Amino acid sequence: GGFQSMGLSYPVYKGVMKKGYKVPTPIQRKTIPVILDGKDIVAMARTGSGKTAAFLVPMFEKLKAPQAQTGARALILTPTRELALQTMKFTRELGKFTGLKTALILGGDRYMTPSCLVLIIGTPGRLMHVVKEMNLKLHSVEYVVFDEADRLFEMGFAEQLQEIIRRLPDTRQTLLFSATLPKLLVEFARAGLTEPVLIRL
Ligand code: AMP
Repeated sequence: GGFQSMGLSYPVYKGVMKKGYKVPTPIQRKTIPVILDGKDIVAMARTGSGKTAAFLVPMFEKLKAPQAQTGARALILTPTRELALQTMKFTRELGKFTGLKTALILGGDRYMTPSCLVLIIGTPGRLMHVVKEMNLKLHSVEYVVFDEADRLFEMGFAEQLQEIIRRLPDTRQTLLFSATLPKLLVEFARAGLTEPVLIRL
């Protein structure tokens, strides 16, 4: 199974080809079809495994569907601003042909007005700050990624993660990527994900 057998739309496939990817990595092969199927997942994947494209490719497909209501549609939470920046750059490259509008929420930086955000990428601390300060609503979010989830907890974001989860609609699709699965994270997944498929290599 290569990328061409995954049923990707042309703008998404073109982005993948432009990046020079010949075949999906093992984590991509296992996760992309399940995510496209609409399931929540807990995926054990480290940096370097191709995990970022594993959640970006199906996200682009999902965001092609007409928007049901106004507001942000996708949320990617990262443990650090460096990773948020890197993920944003990657999203713009890979999603070059999709026409998706992305916005980064980082401490101290300026950002677009919340009303025009489709995809939000940022750390939980900064996101909650913007939610409170600018009254950013998360009720329209359809697709949520907790990237490097073990590090999100190590960085002390547990409380903000709970606050964010509470503001998300129950109908969302939730993905958790983590190198390790400590007990804390299993509990978090149990509470915040719906019948997640566990994917390990
Ligand atoms: P990540 O694990 O998401 O940090 O990705 C690690 C590196 O693998 C990045 O430089 C990606 O551009 C690259 N990569 C992701 N998917 C593929 C693929 N299918 N084929 C080749 N390289 C890839």
